Amino acid sequence: MADLLHDAHGRRISDLRVSVTDRCNFRCQYCMPADGIEWLPRDGILSFEEIQRLVRLLVHLGIEDLRLTGGEPLVRRDFPRLVGMLAAIDGLRDLSLTTNGYLLDRHAEALVAAGIQRVNVSIDSLARDRFFRITRRDSLAQVLAGLEAIAAYPDVRPVKVNAVAMRDFTEDEVMRFCDLARSTDYQVRFIEFMPLDGDRAWKPEAVLTGAEIRSIIRTAHQLEEVPREPHATARRFRFRDGHGEIGFISPVSEPFCADCNRIRLTADGKLRTCLFSMHETDLRDPVRAGATDADLEGIIRDAVWRKELKHHVNESGFRPPPRTMSAIGG
Ligand code: SAM
Repeated sequence: MADLLHDAHGRRISDLRVSVTDRCNFRCQYCMPADGIEWLPRDGILSFEEIQRLVRLLVHLGIEDLRLTGGEPLVRRDFPRLVGMLAAIDGLRDLSLTTNGYLLDRHAEALVAAGIQRVNVSIDSLARDRFFRITRRDSLAQVLAGLEAIAAYPDVRPVKVNAVAMRDFTEDEVMRFCDLARSTDYQVRFIEFMPLDGDRAWKPEAVLTGAEIRSIIRTAHQLEEVPREPHATARRFRFRDGHGEIGFISPVSEPFCADCNRIRLTADGKLRTCLFSMHETDLRDPVRAGATDADLEGIIRDAVWRKELKHHVNESGFRPPPRTMSAIGG
């Protein structure tokens, strides 16, 4: 076994997010502009074989958990075939997917057959008109059908539902999401709005924090915190009456950089060591120029070593990275 990947701050890197496309069939307000988006050229996107090669090498270097994301991963043609190619990699412990759910009912069976182990579905509102307002698509029913389709496979667990929390919007959704968490086995989590939106409209006041949502919930339910697992992004709370739990991913108000074990590979083959990185390391051109695994390993180790200590969202002078969430891969 090779030496495992570490950064200069002593963190072992074992979690990889791979974006398979920058394209998306939704236009969520907090992520992409309504139109005028410049897509990556198709030949700039890593092929399935290129992704498989890089993931295999990264697993050899200690990556254990792989999450596929985008853009919207299910709009990439033949996506379940890629899942099968990655599921076959020896040493990978966990293979999961983050999706907006729109195409999930169509692909659930193929994804499970290919080896997907866990799925996160992003849903920001459980009311049709408000869902439309956020996503600019009238697709709540289709997304809920996708969620049910994947949840029908008992081995795909936990199924997580992620809602971006924004001030003056999400307050009215909180109880609806609590009802969902309490009436199903889905793990529902609220994610704080981060400065990665295409419209560059983010401001600190627009973040509805996890603490604020918990105080809304506490007007109706008692909560009890579940001990945090190492590297977890979410703080989890049980409903004290025994009906399910609810989670909070609070990168803005309660950053969890100290034990961050994540790196990202963009659809065009750039390695990113932080969501908010201002630098990225190209792997695609070396791959296409005939780099050996040893060459690539050197580039990767060097980039990972320089992983950022923390993000600076709460500091004055913070500048968002040039890429938006949809182009990084959330
Ligand atoms: N299309 C897929 C989906 O919707 O899950 C995968 C990609 S999407 C970029 C991944 C996650 O990032 C989604 O849960 C989305 O809500 C979240 N996201 C996008 N922009 C965000 C932002 N500015 N702040 C917080 N979360 C964001």
